[in-house]
Amino acid sequence: MRKRNLPQSLNKSEALKLWKNCSWTELAAAAHKMRVEIHGKKNVSYTVFRIINYTNVCKIGCSFCSFKKMQPYVLSIDEIVSLARTAKKQGANGIFFQGGVNPNIPLGYYLEVLELLNKKLKFPVRGFSPVELFHIAKNNKIPLPELLQKLKAAGLSSVPGAGAEIMTAKMRRILSPKKLSAKEWCCVMEECHKQGLKGSANIVVGSSESPEDIIEHLNYIREVQNKTGGFQSFIPWVFQPQTDDFPIRHVRSDEYIKLVALCRLFFHNIPSIEVSVLGMGKVLGELALYAGANDISSVVLEERVMRSYGIASIEEAEEFIRNAGFNAVRRGINY
Ligand code: SF4
Repeated sequence: MRKRNLPQSLNKSEALKLWKNCSWTELAAAAHKMRVEIHGKKNVSYTVFRIINYTNVCKIGCSFCSFKKMQPYVLSIDEIVSLARTAKKQGANGIFFQGGVNPNIPLGYYLEVLELLNKKLKFPVRGFSPVELFHIAKNNKIPLPELLQKLKAAGLSSVPGAGAEIMTAKMRRILSPKKLSAKEWCCVMEECHKQGLKGSANIVVGSSESPEDIIEHLNYIREVQNKTGGFQSFIPWVFQPQTDDFPIRHVRSDEYIKLVALCRLFFHNIPSIEVSVLGMGKVLGELALYAGANDISSVVLEERVMRSYGIASIEEAEEFIRNAGFNAVRRGINY
């Protein structure tokens, strides 16, 4: 393999050149070197959480979302507590709380749920995409900083980077024209970080994105991180088949590994790169651990859509990490 000098902090055109001109093995080798410099070569981390999708009612209508095909529901507070109690017995580290943009849910519902999950059941809660937060604030006619303070006081501890997919204007028109623009998404995230609600960010590929769209998206995230330092991790995802209305393309294994590696190399300022074994399967998951990823995200205790791929128990996660050649280190949901 021909050696290249890869800069530590890539600008957009350097990143694009790497994407277009390097092989996946070259990028993986460089990214693994950087991962070892940041995290050492022995450990891979994981956590255990329960996803609770509290409602599938959503007025945004993204083209790829399966929610619109399902019977509409809103979980009652008792149902949520019951799911969380079961997760506690199964050894979960936290609750991942997310749903659609449902204007009929009062603010009191969210505050009561957070109080119960966090104060009573002692769970850290990662929850609400920027689009949910934006609309909850709007529906309740309160400024976003005030909403975030209320949610945080009730028990919210971090915010996932959901709802970003790929934020260029072209991809927004294809995927989710009614969602937040890149500027709005970034503003909400900056405010979350300012209020002490750190979290993650991601990208989802497998539609009609171009390499330029990918790099532009990564750059939006990096610019937020330069201002706030609030992203603890970044997760490259691939669209999963959810609805026949949305054509997805097959993302080849080498393209996915290249993406993981590019993310590691591009995000000199984000500590962790996660590979979702849930979405990508064990073979690609293992390869990604040698291409820049240092974390396998979570053992998801219940995920109907993709359960067949996932790691369903703590033992299975630890065995997977050991078989890949690393020590398994369990972390909290908020790192
Ligand atoms: S905003 Fe989220 S829940 Fe609503 S349609 Fe889009 S992906 Fe689905």
